[in-house]
Amino acid sequence: MNTKASTDWNALSDDEFRNRIRSYVETHYPHELRYPSRRLFWNEIGFWYRRMSEIGWIAPNWPREHGGMGLDPSKLLIFYEEHERWGVSRFADMGILMVGPLLIRHGTPEQQRQWLPKIIACEHLWCQGYSEPNAGSDLASLRTEAVRDGDEYLINGQKIWTTLAQDATHIFVLARTDKDAKKQAGISFFLVDMEQPGIRVRPIRDVAGHEELNEIFLENVRVPAANLVGVPNEGWSIAKALLGFERIFLGAPKYPNYALGVLARVAQANGLFAEPAFAFQFAKLRMDVEDHTACYERFVEIVKRGDPVPPDISMLKIVSTESFQAIADQVIRAAGEAGQLAGPVQVGTEVIDVLGPFFRALPSTIYGGTNEIQRNVLAREVLRLPT
Ligand SMILES: Cc1cc2nc3c(=O)[nH]c(=O)nc-3n(C[C@H](O)[C@H](O)[C@H](O)COP(=O)(O)OP(=O)(O)OC[C@H]3O[C@@H](n4cnc5c(N)ncnc54)[C@H](O)[C@@H]3O)c2cc1C
Repeated sequence: MNTKASTDWNALSDDEFRNRIRSYVETHYPHELRYPSRRLFWNEIGFWYRRMSEIGWIAPNWPREHGGMGLDPSKLLIFYEEHERWGVSRFADMGILMVGPLLIRHGTPEQQRQWLPKIIACEHLWCQGYSEPNAGSDLASLRTEAVRDGDEYLINGQKIWTTLAQDATHIFVLARTDKDAKKQAGISFFLVDMEQPGIRVRPIRDVAGHEELNEIFLENVRVPAANLVGVPNEGWSIAKALLGFERIFLGAPKYPNYALGVLARVAQANGLFAEPAFAFQFAKLRMDVEDHTACYERFVEIVKRGDPVPPDISMLKIVSTESFQAIADQVIRAAGEAGQLAGPVQVGTEVIDVLGPFFRALPSTIYGGTNEIQRNVLAREVLRLPT
């Protein structure tokens, strides 16, 4: 199979492209790792992404001249849809999703030569150091500080909720470089080696007992000035510029569909479809997912045309995550006594991770811009309500 970066994927029809991706993923991705109830660590999923790197599929969103697949928006959506449909786990993929595209747009040729090949080769794994204890939704109030010292910056501060920092070799950090400037001004974007003295990672155990989130403490961390991306004090605009395309993924119906699949299995195992009240509830949830899918497809058409994504896309994330939570709740009810047990449990004749959807659904209304913030966007930019 000719899969290397030389392939012009965009020359294929959408159907042909979808079939190629689907057939590869279904044939090679291990069944037991489908839809894991948490993000997998590199020692569990690294083999898969090394293979993606070998066959040239590691960076579907990057241009071909930088080693990516160079997919147009339509093919890129199909690529992710097929991976998500099969429940392929992500890895510490911020290098692919954020650092690479950002360097390609804003990095110097030296920075591109230094960093991009190592991301493609999976030698460098990146995590995202944006949020701080008092700067989440209001990210611009961040207080981590970077002070110039000769050819270096000295960084001090704290980051939080950093996904898979344990796996990361590097972190990209937003830090304040001008304390006197107005909030968004005076912030710069840094590339930081996690091996640098002064960096401490402390895992945070979540309600499910998993430790994929972390706190990061930065104490007098020395970073070469050459690791600042873009213009000093103007990191905010480049950090924000990447969020456009992400919004459609956050609003895709993948998770509600996955939870609906788990609900159907639990209901089947417990004979619940024979009960009219359950059958009615299931049909209602299923129709909600169908409505959401129809709405998602409308936005997909906009992205495919290359038109700007309108602000009402915020409603997709709200509907997707809240429907995910509603279905995950219903899974627990449908499981009866088994609904109190974490991990795979016996339900009728089947073994099912009943709480899996619940634990994944819980934080979904928080990350990627909380649902309250999405509602603010709708109020301000769609409904034009006074704020
Ligand atoms: C699973 C997960 C993974 C994450 N991974 C990362 C990561 O890798 N790197 C990283 O930097 N961050 C990460 N985050 C952090 C995430 O970006 C923040 O949690 C998010 O931005 C919300 O910030 P906060 O937690 O500080 O909550 P806050 O902003 O303090 O909000 C608390 C509550 O107040 C509400 N609220 C806040 N402001 C308003 C307003 N103006 N109007 C109405 N309501 C408001 C919020 O909606 C929320 O309900 C992750 C979070 C989660 C849950």
